[in-house]
Amino acid sequence: MSSIEEKDKEFIWHPFTQMQEWVAQPQMVIEAAEGIKLIDDQGNSYYDGVSSLWVNLHGHRHPVIDQAIIEQLGKVAHTTMLGLVNVPAAQLAEELMAVVPQGLKKLFYSDDGSTAVEIGIKMAFQYWQLKGKPKKQKFITLANAYHGDTVGTVSVGGIDLFHRIFSALLFETIQAPAPCCYHCKLSSGAKLCGMACSKEVEKILEEGHEEIAAIIVEPLVQAAAGMLTQPPGYLKRLREITKKYNVLLLVDEVATGFGRTGKMFACDHEEVSPDFMMVAKGITGGYLPLAATFMTDEIYNTFLGDYAQQRTFYHGHSYTGNPLCCAAGLANLKIFRDENVLENLQGKIEAARNKLAGFTLKHVGDIRQRGLIIGIELVENPQEKIPFPWEMAVGAKVCKKAREHGLIIRPIGSVVVFMPPLASTITEIEHMLDIIYLSIKEVT
Ligand code: PLP
Repeated sequence: MSSIEEKDKEFIWHPFTQMQEWVAQPQMVIEAAEGIKLIDDQGNSYYDGVSSLWVNLHGHRHPVIDQAIIEQLGKVAHTTMLGLVNVPAAQLAEELMAVVPQGLKKLFYSDDGSTAVEIGIKMAFQYWQLKGKPKKQKFITLANAYHGDTVGTVSVGGIDLFHRIFSALLFETIQAPAPCCYHCKLSSGAKLCGMACSKEVEKILEEGHEEIAAIIVEPLVQAAAGMLTQPPGYLKRLREITKKYNVLLLVDEVATGFGRTGKMFACDHEEVSPDFMMVAKGITGGYLPLAATFMTDEIYNTFLGDYAQQRTFYHGHSYTGNPLCCAAGLANLKIFRDENVLENLQGKIEAARNKLAGFTLKHVGDIRQRGLIIGIELVENPQEKIPFPWEMAVGAKVCKKAREHGLIIRPIGSVVVFMPPLASTITEIEHMLDIIYLSIKEVT
């Protein structure tokens, strides 16, 4: 065991990890990266098939982002947003406004997806208090949703595994069904159901809108739930019915934002402009922690007044609007423009789709793809959609096998997740998918 691995095992507690198992197994130490590959301390390189947890867009060590951070370091690394503003924070805000859905006019910076969502929840809540509708306090959430790990964001999440133990700490929400045709229990004929999932939401709104503040949704795909893709039109329908019932729409684009679904934002596919939109992960191209919560003028203006009127939003973090992160954010947007990232993406998405069409393996139950967000669900019995037992850890075994073949991916239960950097070439995407195919074949 290397001395780094020893130090890690002695001192570090890893996220979402059973440490008893972690310390008992050999672990890979990453020392460097180049393009879409990570390099370990033995000099072996691996495809970064989950974009370092869905954050990396343009590859590692991209010269434009590297240089932007270096230049900003020569000026100032950090300064507070309390009583001050800094250059890259203001410049990035202006550039972001030009690419987000047109109804969003202001943003509030934070540091990660969870805090961006937490801010959206708190603002939506305070908005109705300020509007003189104090009864509007409830949130509609989707089953299996994931919006982060703070107490507030776990409250609006729907993954039982992360919830159960904390239930006494969480606020209650009204849960609507997860809109995913493969797993749908509302209808047997997906095409004829008239989007029964959205009708469930409408029913909730019709009955309870006077006490409902907002609905929060991951647009197009519930990522951490296992890449549960929504029927086309679902998001647009949510926008229509939330307007009808005077309820706010919070769209969590933390995983889907910045090109992942093939357009800049998932909202763009259905021309939806929400009341709030939260982004993080890809905002710096996957380099540094930064997040933003966008809102409409209506929300922003409602908070205006004298301090004495108590309309102020009392929330902030030490590193809010950090200049280094914002400089990386500016470089990220520059790459989107200069390298035609979105245009080039379309052929890559199509190439992945064609390759996945050949995944006719016995235990592949469902393949869900939105842009370069891909989930391959493995099931014991595809006819009956019977999942593999949890303890068989089939997804984990496939990912372990893929690592032996030079690809780093992570499972969500028995869903194999593939979310490569947008910078991956068609050849690289096809090669990574060949590895996944082979790994599934070898394990199942
Ligand atoms: N929202 C969504 C949709 C996510 O996928 C995630 C993380 O995966 C989060 C929020 C939380 O983001 P973070 O891990 O940066 O706190």
